[in-house]
Amino acid sequence: MSGKKSAALALAAAAVAAAAVVARQEVKEYKSGVVWPEPKVVAPGEKPGDPPADAVILFDGKDLSKWKGGEKWEIKDGYAVVRGGDISTKDNYGDYQLHVEFATPEKVRGSGQGRGNSGVFLADRYEVQVLDSFGNKTYFDGQAASLYKQQPPMVNVSRKPGEWQTYDIAFEAPRFDGGKVVKPGIVTVFHNGVLVQNHFELQGGTYYDRPASYEPHPVKQPIRLQNHGDPVKYRNIWLRELTPIVVKNPEGK
Ligand code: MG
Repeated sequence: MSGKKSAALALAAAAVAAAAVVARQEVKEYKSGVVWPEPKVVAPGEKPGDPPADAVILFDGKDLSKWKGGEKWEIKDGYAVVRGGDISTKDNYGDYQLHVEFATPEKVRGSGQGRGNSGVFLADRYEVQVLDSFGNKTYFDGQAASLYKQQPPMVNVSRKPGEWQTYDIAFEAPRFDGGKVVKPGIVTVFHNGVLVQNHFELQGGTYYDRPASYEPHPVKQPIRLQNHGDPVKYRNIWLRELTPIVVKNPEGK
Protein backbone atom coordinates (compact mmCIF):
# COMPACT_ATOMS: atom_id res chain seq x y z
CA MET A 1 0.00 0.00 0.00
CA SER A 2 1.31 3.46 -0.84
CA GLY A 3 1.85 6.02 1.91
CA LYS A 4 -0.88 8.17 0.40
CA LYS A 5 -3.41 5.35 0.37
CA SER A 6 -2.76 4.31 3.95
CA ALA A 7 -3.02 7.93 5.12
CA ALA A 8 -6.38 8.21 3.34
CA LEU A 9 -7.58 4.99 4.98
CA ALA A 10 -6.51 6.19 8.41
CA LEU A 11 -8.40 9.44 7.86
CA ALA A 12 -11.54 7.56 6.79
CA ALA A 13 -11.34 5.30 9.86
CA ALA A 14 -10.99 8.34 12.12
CA ALA A 15 -14.05 9.92 10.50
CA VAL A 16 -16.12 6.79 11.07
CA ALA A 17 -15.04 6.62 14.73
CA ALA A 18 -15.93 10.28 15.23
CA ALA A 19 -19.34 9.76 13.65
CA ALA A 20 -19.96 6.80 16.00
CA VAL A 21 -19.18 8.99 19.03
CA VAL A 22 -21.60 11.66 17.80
CA ALA A 23 -24.26 8.99 17.13
CA ARG A 24 -23.81 7.56 20.64
CA GLN A 25 -24.23 10.97 22.17
CA GLU A 26 -27.42 11.56 20.21
CA VAL A 27 -29.14 8.29 21.24
CA LYS A 28 -31.81 8.97 23.81
CA GLU A 29 -33.23 6.12 25.82
CA TYR A 30 -36.84 5.30 25.05
CA LYS A 31 -39.12 5.16 28.07
CA SER A 32 -42.71 4.07 27.63
CA GLY A 33 -43.98 6.04 30.62
CA VAL A 34 -45.98 3.02 31.72
CA VAL A 35 -45.77 2.49 35.47
CA TRP A 36 -45.42 -1.24 36.06
CA PRO A 37 -45.62 -2.89 39.46
CA GLU A 38 -42.56 -4.95 40.32
CA PRO A 39 -43.03 -8.62 39.36
CA LYS A 40 -43.26 -10.82 42.42
CA VAL A 41 -40.15 -12.83 43.21
CA VAL A 42 -40.83 -16.59 42.92
CA ALA A 43 -38.24 -19.27 43.57
CA PRO A 44 -38.25 -21.71 40.66
CA GLY A 45 -38.22 -25.49 41.11
CA GLU A 46 -34.84 -27.16 41.45
CA LYS A 47 -35.10 -28.90 38.08
CA PRO A 48 -37.56 -28.66 35.19
CA GLY A 49 -40.92 -30.10 36.22
CA ASP A 50 -40.41 -29.35 39.91
CA PRO A 51 -43.04 -27.01 41.34
CA PRO A 52 -42.01 -23.37 41.84
CA ALA A 53 -42.55 -21.80 45.27
CA ASP A 54 -45.98 -20.36 44.41
CA ALA A 55 -47.44 -23.60 43.02
CA VAL A 56 -50.51 -25.34 44.42
CA ILE A 57 -49.50 -28.98 44.83
CA LEU A 58 -52.39 -31.14 43.66
CA PHE A 59 -50.62 -34.50 43.97
CA ASP A 60 -47.18 -35.11 45.41
CA GLY A 61 -47.23 -38.89 45.12
CA LYS A 62 -48.54 -39.48 48.65
CA ASP A 63 -52.27 -38.83 48.71
CA LEU A 64 -55.15 -37.60 46.60
CA SER A 65 -56.80 -35.64 49.41
CA LYS A 66 -57.16 -32.60 47.11
CA TRP A 67 -59.35 -34.67 44.77
CA LYS A 68 -62.97 -35.78 44.92
CA GLY A 69 -63.07 -39.51 44.20
CA GLY A 70 -59.36 -39.85 44.98
CA GLU A 71 -60.02 -42.72 47.37
CA LYS A 72 -60.95 -44.91 44.39
CA TRP A 73 -57.52 -44.66 42.79
CA GLU A 74 -54.62 -46.79 43.89
CA ILE A 75 -51.55 -45.03 45.28
CA LYS A 76 -48.19 -46.73 45.38
CA ASP A 77 -44.49 -45.93 44.97
CA GLY A 78 -45.14 -42.20 44.56
CA TYR A 79 -47.78 -42.39 41.86
CA ALA A 80 -51.54 -42.90 41.48
CA VAL A 81 -53.21 -45.40 39.18
CA VAL A 82 -56.56 -44.77 37.48
CA ARG A 83 -59.28 -46.99 38.99
CA GLY A 84 -63.04 -47.00 39.09
CA GLY A 85 -64.01 -43.41 38.23
CA ASP A 86 -62.90 -39.91 37.32
CA ILE A 87 -61.36 -37.69 39.98
CA SER A 88 -61.84 -33.90 40.22
CA THR A 89 -60.06 -31.25 42.25
CA LYS A 90 -62.01 -30.16 45.32
CA ASP A 91 -61.03 -26.55 44.62
CA ASN A 92 -61.88 -24.60 41.50
CA TYR A 93 -59.42 -22.78 39.27
CA GLY A 94 -59.75 -20.23 36.44
CA ASP A 95 -56.64 -19.33 34.43
CA TYR A 96 -53.58 -21.39 35.21
CA GLN A 97 -50.37 -23.16 34.34
CA LEU A 98 -50.73 -26.88 34.98
CA HIS A 99 -48.01 -29.53 35.19
CA VAL A 100 -49.02 -33.18 34.92
CA GLU A 101 -46.88 -36.32 34.66
CA PHE A 102 -48.36 -39.56 33.40
CA ALA A 103 -47.37 -42.97 32.10
CA THR A 104 -49.53 -45.22 29.94
CA PRO A 105 -49.46 -48.93 30.90
CA GLU A 106 -46.21 -50.75 30.23
CA LYS A 107 -48.15 -53.86 29.31
CA VAL A 108 -49.74 -52.85 26.01
CA ARG A 109 -53.35 -53.88 25.63
CA GLY A 110 -55.94 -52.82 23.07
CA SER A 111 -55.54 -50.40 20.19
CA GLY A 112 -56.67 -46.98 19.03
CA GLN A 113 -58.72 -45.20 21.69
CA GLY A 114 -58.63 -48.38 23.79
CA ARG A 115 -54.92 -48.18 24.61
CA GLY A 116 -53.76 -46.14 27.60
CA ASN A 117 -56.71 -43.75 27.45
CA SER A 118 -57.26 -41.11 30.13
CA GLY A 119 -57.50 -37.34 29.92
CA VAL A 120 -56.91 -34.01 31.60
CA PHE A 121 -60.17 -32.05 31.59
CA LEU A 122 -59.58 -28.32 31.94
CA ALA A 123 -62.52 -26.55 33.57
CA ASP A 124 -64.10 -30.01 33.89
CA ARG A 125 -65.03 -30.12 30.18
CA TYR A 126 -62.14 -29.37 27.79
CA GLU A 127 -60.06 -32.52 27.34
CA VAL A 128 -56.36 -32.65 26.65
CA GLN A 129 -56.25 -36.29 25.59
CA VAL A 130 -54.04 -38.80 27.38
CA LEU A 131 -53.43 -41.88 25.23
CA ASP A 132 -50.70 -44.35 24.38
CA SER A 133 -49.84 -42.82 21.00
CA PHE A 134 -46.52 -44.61 20.63
CA GLY A 135 -46.99 -46.62 17.44
CA ASN A 136 -50.74 -46.64 18.02
CA LYS A 137 -52.85 -45.10 15.27
CA THR A 138 -56.19 -43.50 15.96
CA TYR A 139 -57.98 -40.46 14.60
CA PHE A 140 -55.50 -37.60 14.81
CA ASP A 141 -57.70 -35.25 16.78
CA GLY A 142 -58.03 -38.01 19.36
CA GLN A 143 -54.38 -38.95 19.85
CA ALA A 144 -52.22 -37.96 22.83
CA ALA A 145 -52.02 -34.19 23.41
CA SER A 146 -54.94 -33.47 21.09
CA LEU A 147 -57.74 -31.18 22.15
CA TYR A 148 -60.22 -33.99 21.81
CA LYS A 149 -62.06 -33.89 18.45
CA GLN A 150 -60.94 -30.30 17.92
CA GLN A 151 -57.21 -30.17 17.21
CA PRO A 152 -54.42 -32.75 16.77
CA PRO A 153 -51.04 -31.96 18.33
CA MET A 154 -48.57 -30.37 15.87
CA VAL A 155 -46.22 -33.33 16.35
CA ASN A 156 -46.38 -36.69 18.13
CA VAL A 157 -43.72 -36.70 20.84
CA SER A 158 -45.11 -39.64 22.80
CA ARG A 159 -42.72 -41.77 24.80
CA LYS A 160 -42.92 -45.55 24.99
CA PRO A 161 -45.60 -47.26 27.08
CA GLY A 162 -44.60 -47.26 30.75
CA GLU A 163 -42.26 -44.25 30.44
CA TRP A 164 -43.07 -41.06 32.31
CA GLN A 165 -44.27 -38.15 30.20
CA THR A 166 -45.14 -34.54 30.92
CA TYR A 167 -47.83 -32.10 29.94
CA ASP A 168 -47.26 -28.44 30.68
CA ILE A 169 -50.49 -26.66 29.95
CA ALA A 170 -51.42 -22.98 29.95
CA PHE A 171 -55.15 -22.45 30.16
CA GLU A 172 -57.24 -19.33 29.95
CA ALA A 173 -60.84 -20.08 30.84
CA PRO A 174 -63.55 -18.82 28.50
CA ARG A 175 -65.62 -15.85 29.61
CA PHE A 176 -69.37 -15.62 29.18
CA ASP A 177 -71.89 -12.84 29.35
CA GLY A 178 -75.15 -14.62 30.06
CA GLY A 179 -75.39 -17.20 27.28
CA LYS A 180 -72.85 -15.45 25.04
CA VAL A 181 -69.15 -16.32 24.72
CA VAL A 182 -67.25 -13.05 25.09
CA LYS A 183 -63.83 -14.71 25.06
CA PRO A 184 -63.17 -18.33 24.06
CA GLY A 185 -61.00 -20.63 26.14
CA ILE A 186 -57.32 -20.73 25.13
CA VAL A 187 -55.03 -23.73 25.53
CA THR A 188 -51.28 -24.11 25.05
CA VAL A 189 -49.66 -27.53 25.59
CA PHE A 190 -46.05 -28.64 25.81
CA HIS A 191 -45.79 -32.45 25.60
CA ASN A 192 -42.48 -33.75 26.94
CA GLY A 193 -41.15 -30.19 26.61
CA VAL A 194 -42.25 -29.78 22.98
CA LEU A 195 -44.85 -27.19 21.99
CA VAL A 196 -47.74 -29.13 20.44
CA GLN A 197 -50.72 -26.79 20.95
CA ASN A 198 -50.00 -23.11 20.56
CA HIS A 199 -52.61 -20.76 21.98
CA PHE A 200 -55.44 -22.89 20.59
CA GLU A 201 -58.86 -21.31 20.68
CA LEU A 202 -61.33 -23.85 22.03
CA GLN A 203 -64.54 -24.25 20.04
CA GLY A 204 -66.40 -25.42 23.13
CA GLY A 205 -66.67 -28.57 25.21
CA THR A 206 -64.87 -31.64 23.82
CA TYR A 207 -67.49 -34.29 23.20
CA TYR A 208 -67.36 -37.83 21.82
CA ASP A 209 -70.85 -37.85 20.33
CA ARG A 210 -71.51 -34.30 19.20
CA PRO A 211 -69.78 -31.24 17.83
CA ALA A 212 -67.97 -28.88 20.17
CA SER A 213 -70.19 -26.26 21.71
CA TYR A 214 -69.99 -23.89 24.62
CA GLU A 215 -72.21 -24.13 27.63
CA PRO A 216 -71.76 -21.10 29.89
CA HIS A 217 -70.04 -21.79 33.21
CA PRO A 218 -68.34 -19.84 36.00
CA VAL A 219 -64.70 -19.00 35.30
CA LYS A 220 -63.40 -21.19 38.11
CA GLN A 221 -64.00 -24.91 37.70
CA PRO A 222 -62.40 -28.16 38.88
CA ILE A 223 -59.73 -30.00 36.94
CA ARG A 224 -60.77 -33.56 36.19
CA LEU A 225 -58.68 -36.63 35.38
CA GLN A 226 -60.47 -39.29 33.36
CA ASN A 227 -61.02 -42.95 34.08
CA HIS A 228 -61.34 -44.60 30.66
CA GLY A 229 -60.80 -48.11 32.00
CA ASP A 230 -57.02 -48.15 31.47
CA PRO A 231 -54.58 -48.19 34.42
CA VAL A 232 -52.75 -44.97 33.48
CA LYS A 233 -50.40 -43.65 36.17
CA TYR A 234 -50.11 -40.04 37.38
CA ARG A 235 -47.58 -38.23 39.54
CA ASN A 236 -46.27 -34.71 40.30
CA ILE A 237 -49.34 -32.62 39.54
CA TRP A 238 -49.25 -28.93 40.35
CA LEU A 239 -50.60 -25.65 39.11
CA ARG A 240 -50.04 -21.96 39.34
CA GLU A 241 -52.96 -19.62 39.08
CA LEU A 242 -52.22 -16.80 36.68
CA THR A 243 -52.44 -13.24 37.83
CA PRO A 244 -51.81 -10.84 34.97
CA ILE A 245 -49.47 -8.00 35.83
CA VAL A 246 -51.53 -4.80 35.76
CA VAL A 247 -50.20 -1.39 34.80
CA LYS A 248 -50.50 1.24 37.52
CA ASN A 249 -51.41 4.15 35.27
CA PRO A 250 -53.85 2.69 32.75
CA GLU A 251 -55.08 6.15 31.81
CA GLY A 252 -51.75 7.23 30.39
CA LYS A 253 -48.27 8.51 30.97
MG1 MG B 1 -59.49 -39.61 27.08
